[in-house]
Amino acid sequence: MELSMYNCVICRYHEIATKGNNRNMFERCLCGNIKHLLADIPDIQVRRVRGRVWVERSDKGVFPSETLERIKVALRRAFGLESFSPAILLAPDMDVIRETVVSNAQKIFEGYSSGVKFRVRARRSNKRFPLTSKDIEIDLVSAVAQVVGSDLFIIDLDNADITLGVEVRDEFSLIYFDTYSAPGGLPVGSNPRVLTLLSGGIDSPVAAYMIMKRGSATDYVTFHSSPYTPQETVDKVEAIAALLNTFQTKGTLHVVNLLPFQKLVRDCCSERMRTVLYRRAMFRIAEKIAHKTNCRALVTGEALGQVASQTVVNLDTINRATDMLVLRPLIGEDKLDTIAIAEKIGSMELSSVQVPDSCTVFSPSSPSTSVPAGLAEKEEEKIPEYAKVIDDIVSAAVAITPQDGWNIK
Ligand code: ATP
Ligand code: MG
Repeated sequence: MELSMYNCVICRYHEIATKGNNRNMFERCLCGNIKHLLADIPDIQVRRVRGRVWVERSDKGVFPSETLERIKVALRRAFGLESFSPAILLAPDMDVIRETVVSNAQKIFEGYSSGVKFRVRARRSNKRFPLTSKDIEIDLVSAVAQVVGSDLFIIDLDNADITLGVEVRDEFSLIYFDTYSAPGGLPVGSNPRVLTLLSGGIDSPVAAYMIMKRGSATDYVTFHSSPYTPQETVDKVEAIAALLNTFQTKGTLHVVNLLPFQKLVRDCCSERMRTVLYRRAMFRIAEKIAHKTNCRALVTGEALGQVASQTVVNLDTINRATDMLVLRPLIGEDKLDTIAIAEKIGSMELSSVQVPDSCTVFSPSSPSTSVPAGLAEKEEEKIPEYAKVIDDIVSAAVAITPQDGWNIK
C-alpha cells in the first residue's frame, strides 16, 4: 500500500525468539546485519524493541517512497527475519489511531471496487488501554465505513484483500497494511564461517545460500583446469560468488588450478575412477584452505544419486578424504526444488551460462558408480608425491574478493 505516512518498518523474527540464553546474541547479530544491509541509506536507525527490530529514520520522520523501496529490497535478504511491515508509529491513543486510519481510508481502498474483502486485526499488549482488541477492530471498521461507505467492502476475517494491522503497546501504537515475507532462518554470522566448494553449476550456489540461511557466512573455493578450461570458467563462478555475497559480509573466492593433479590421475590411475579421485583431491585442498582461513566446515551441492560420483559408495569414498565436517544441504533435495531456489535467489541465470567445467577435463565416458575407499587409496598410491602435489596446488591458489558484501544491485 503506497501510504505517505510510514515512519517505521517493523521486522518480525520467529526462530530467534525460541532461543533461550543465546537469544541476545542472535538479536544483536540480526540488528548488525540489517544495519549493514541498509548502510548505504543515510540517517537510518535500527533498534530492538521488545522482540522486534525497528527500522526508522534518525529524525523519526516519514520515509520517502524510494527509501522505503530500498529498505524492502534489503530486508528480503536478511536471514533470521520472518516478515516485515512498513508501519505508522503513533501514540497509544484511540483517537489518534482512528484519525490516522480515517485520513488514509480513501487511499487504502484506492483501485478496489465494491465487494473487496477487508479486515482489521488488532492486538493489545497494553492492558490499561480502554478498548479491547475486539473493540478496536469494531471501532476502526465503522470509522472506515463512514469514510468510504459500507457498500465498498465486506468483512472477511480469513481471506482478506486488505488487512489493517493495529498493535497497541504501553508507549506506542502501530498501524500497517502490508506484510512482506523475509527469508527466515538464522542471522548470517551467528554460526562459524564455512567454505563452499563452488562450481558454475546450479547446485552449489543454492547449497551456499542454504548454509548462509542457517547462520554461517561462507568463503568459496572453485577449481578450474586452465588452460584446458577458459578464463570464463572462473569469471562465471566469480559472478555467482558476487551474487551470494549480497546475502552476507564479504566472502573470499579461492581460485585453484586442479590441472597438475588431473594430469597425474590421467597418467597414473584407472580411467573409470578419475572423477572420484578428483573429488577426493578437491576435499583435501579445500580442507587445507579452510584450516588456513578459519573456516570450520566444507559445503557442497552434492545430492544423493545425482551423478556417478554421488552414489552412496562414492560419496562415502569422497567423504573419507577429509576429517572436516562436510555440510550437504541438498543431499535429499529434488532437482526441481533446487532450481526453484536458484531462480528465487537469482543464481539460475548465472549458472545457465554454458562454459567448460573443470570436472569434465579428461573425464571418463563411463565413470564408476562404486569406487570403495580402499580402491581409491590404492589408486592414489600410484601418484608420485601425492601430498606434495596437493600442497603445491594449495600454495598456488589465488584469493579474490568478488565484491563487497551486502552490495545490492
Ligand atoms: P550441477 O548443478 O551441474 O549438478 P554442481 O556444481 O552441483 O552442478 P556436480 O558435478 O554435481 O556439480 O558436483 C557436486 C559438488 O561438488 C558441487 O555441488 C560442488 O560443491 C562441488 N564441485 C564440483 N565441481 C566443482 C568445481 N569445479 N569447483 C568447486 N566445487 C566443485
Ligand atoms: Mg550437482
